[in-house]
Amino acid sequence: MARPTSAIIHADALRHNLSQVRQRSPHSRVMAVVKADGYGHGLERVARALGGADAFGVAALSDAERLRAGGLSQPIVLLSGFNEPADIARMRELAVDTVIHHQSQLEMLEQADAGEPLACWLKLDTGMHRLGFQPEAAHDAYARLRRLTHVVGPVRLLNHFASSDEFDSAQTREQLRLFNEITADLPGERSLANSAAILGWPQSHGDWVRAGGALYGISVVDGRTGADFGLRPAMTLATRLISVNRVRGGERIGYSATWECPEDMDVGVAAIGYGDGYPRHAPAGTPVLVGGQRAQVIGRVSMDLMTIDLRGIPEARVGDPVTLWGPDLPVETIADAAGTIGYELTCSITRRVRFVEA
Ligand SMILES: *Cc1c(COP(=O)(O)O)cnc(C)c1O
Repeated sequence: MARPTSAIIHADALRHNLSQVRQRSPHSRVMAVVKADGYGHGLERVARALGGADAFGVAALSDAERLRAGGLSQPIVLLSGFNEPADIARMRELAVDTVIHHQSQLEMLEQADAGEPLACWLKLDTGMHRLGFQPEAAHDAYARLRRLTHVVGPVRLLNHFASSDEFDSAQTREQLRLFNEITADLPGERSLANSAAILGWPQSHGDWVRAGGALYGISVVDGRTGADFGLRPAMTLATRLISVNRVRGGERIGYSATWECPEDMDVGVAAIGYGDGYPRHAPAGTPVLVGGQRAQVIGRVSMDLMTIDLRGIPEARVGDPVTLWGPDLPVETIADAAGTIGYELTCSITRRVRFVEA
């Protein structure tokens, strides 16, 4: 029998979330960010479900190749830009638009043959200090791009927020102010907002919003789930109980014997572990659903298996469905318990998990 561990991808939730993003940013076009294999949901599958998006954002040229091979015709934007001259030819073949965030990319573009036109987004560093031109270098970079006959104008402008998940953040206000100041006399469409800014910073929406997490129904806003914003989780991670055992009080469960049974009790074993991408550092007490009822992880999560406290679910049997996250158990709750964000959890699902579309 096949391993019962599966990631169920809800195409209707993806579509619903896209329409929610559109409602929240009615004057903006939507770039669907599908990097990291669509935040772990499957690149092609996600792109099919989100076919109504105005553009797609990726981090790797190989993702753009996959999208074009699948027949996707919308603009594709390489969010971290290209790395070497050969990438320019490939971007032209694939009609991929690129972010320009560094001097070295400008130089490669200036040395490239005239040829198929390229559409560029100029990235400005307004305070995150990751990628982008410094405010004082922005106009020079813009002018150099405009001088290139093979760059189609007007160049578009973007910035990325460091703290938009805080809806009252002095840093975000300052990034917004600085972006507007630097770009005041530059033509071209603007894009500032990621998912959290779509939800909490309407004044930042600009011409294009770049929605990642929101499309998958995942929030990174502290203490709030995607559902709190009207979004629907696009992934259910599920498996089954493959063993139910009576264990005596005082006995210890799993590797390093970290959890002691306080009484005689039933312990369930589910066919999922960190080899599937479930976080090993999810502590005892992390919730799971067994047959739809809430139970808790006990002991260490191991590579293929986890152990579950079945007190409170006396009817639990081998074969019962176990849900690790999904519409009835927010991935944000599991992420909180494991000290991370929902994005990391969905991105970490491994290849042995069977993906099913529902
Ligand atoms: C990943 C990414 C996004 C999307 O961020 P979310 O928080 O998932 O919406 C937007 N813009 C850039 C440049 C990114 O790298």
